[in-house]
Formats: sequence, structure tokens, C-alpha cells
Amino acid sequence: MIKVDLISPMRCSKCRRPAILFQRYSGLHLCREHFLADLEAKAKRDIRVRRWVRPGDTVAVALSGGKDSTALLHFLHSLLSRRRDVQVLAITVDEGISGYRDPTEAKRIAEGLGVPHVTASFREHYGTTIDEIVAKKGDALSCSYCGVLRRHLLNVAAREQHATRLALGFNLDDEAQSVLMNVLRGDSGRLLRAPGPREGLVPRIKPFLHVPEREVALYAYLVSGRIDTGRCPYSHNALRAGVRRMLNGYAWDHPGTRHALVNLGEELSERGAAREGFVHTCERCGEPCSDVCRSCQILSEVGHGT
Ligand SMILES: [Zn+2]
Ligand SMILES: [Zn+2]
Repeated sequence: MIKVDLISPMRCSKCRRPAILFQRYSGLHLCREHFLADLEAKAKRDIRVRRWVRPGDTVAVALSGGKDSTALLHFLHSLLSRRRDVQVLAITVDEGISGYRDPTEAKRIAEGLGVPHVTASFREHYGTTIDEIVAKKGDALSCSYCGVLRRHLLNVAAREQHATRLALGFNLDDEAQSVLMNVLRGDSGRLLRAPGPREGLVPRIKPFLHVPEREVALYAYLVSGRIDTGRCPYSHNALRAGVRRMLNGYAWDHPGTRHALVNLGEELSERGAAREGFVHTCERCGEPCSDVCRSCQILSEVGHGT
């Protein structure tokens, strides 16, 4: 007699239950439980090996409300909330992009977990918004402007909250794309730039550094029930989109490529650390910067110099 398994799902490589994910780079099929364990083990390993969280730390999670930061807040909350020697809080930056990611949504996510939450807005801090900057300057550079100003403001807000760590939801794909973009631009300065520590700069941690984007998205869905469909209305102009497409195509045939790029980036920045020059402080805004303060440069370009 022939038995036909009509559903015939792929089975978890570890426990034979139905799999929800196939990892091309590891060859493993994983069920829900083993997928969650696998992702969390990767994040915990980086936190442990890099000593990213220490007793007495206040960890500020940059929470946009998108899938990466929502997943990160859930993960760090579950990892740290029972520790008395570590505090977790969430910071949301309101860039002022109408119709995109209402910051009150991020606030709800944080409050749902009982995590203290603060919002820092471009309007309040810079006196302008991304909508206004785009109206004045067009949207060709809006992502790079927005990125610089958001990083700057996150650091200011984290320091104001006495945070000792700033946790960012960057995933493996983001990091690999950044390295490849620097290679394609021939930007050796950025490739060799040491990650810190620098005075005035709250040290950044990226627990999902070795987790692929699609796995972070799946994790966000499983732990929060949310599917991220938000897309910044100005993001179509980002240089990153082309690099992302190219890398996704290439990595399909060579599944270890993202890991290789991230490792390359880390190795180069470690070598750069040996010859790192001194740190500047911006004369206008007082924030740490490289020779020219990009935030102040952008603000004066868009006619909002302080
Ligand atoms: Zn399993
Ligand atoms: Zn400045």
C-alpha cells in the first residue's frame, strides 16, 4: 500500500516537526521553536562575546516601530527585563514624514511591554522636518540627510536619558549592504573607521548583526504579531536600493556572501582602529563628529543653520 502525504511539509532538521524556515546558508530547516532559539542564540552570542551589555548599563533601543527595531525591543526586553542591574528604554525619532510611521505606534509597542519610552523630534530639535527639507531640496538626498540627522538626534536623546548603550536594529543584510556600498564608492575612510569608543558618543550595539533580514522579519511577526509594510515615501531614491538588489541576486547563488562582507567590514575597521586619529567636537552643536560635522553641514545647506 502506498501512503501519500498530501501536506508533505518540510520537517525541522532538529526535531522533525513542520519547518517554518529554510536557511540557505546553513542548509537547515527549522520549526518555530528551533528558529526562535537559533535567532536568539546568535544575538546572545554577539552580546556575550563583544561584552555589549554590562552590569549597570542603561540600554536605549532605537525604536522606529518598523520590524527590525520592534523585534529588537522584544528580544532585549525578554533578555534583560528580569535583570535588576540593567535598564531598558526606547527612543523614537520623529523625522516629520507625513503618512509614514506614526511615532505614537512605537510608543504603544514600548508601553505594551512596559518599557519606558521617549520621542525626539526633528521639528523640536532642528526646527525643521524631512518633509520640509524635501520640499526645499527635492528628495534625491533625503535618505542620506535623514540618516545623518537621525543618528545625531538619537545620540543626543540617548545621552539625555543617561543611556550607556544605544541598541540599533541593524541586521545582516543592512550591514553587508553598507560594506558593499563603501567598497563600490571606493570609500576606504569609512571601511577603516573604527567603531568607537568616542567621547560624547553613546556606544552602539547591534545584536542582530548576524541575523538575516528575512529572519528578523519572521521573528518580529512571531513575537509581536506585526507585519511591517511601512515604506518611507522618499526611499525610492536611496542608493542602497540598487546595492540591495544586486546583493540579493548574488547571495542567492552564494549564500555566505553577506556574512563574508560583514566579516570583511569588521576586520577592516579593527585594522583602522590602530591608526585612528583624534576625535573632533563640533563647534556649533557640540556633538562628536569627524573633521566636518555632517549634521550642521546639512542644516546649513537646507537653510536651517543654528
Ligand atoms: Zn524543531
Ligand atoms: Zn554640528
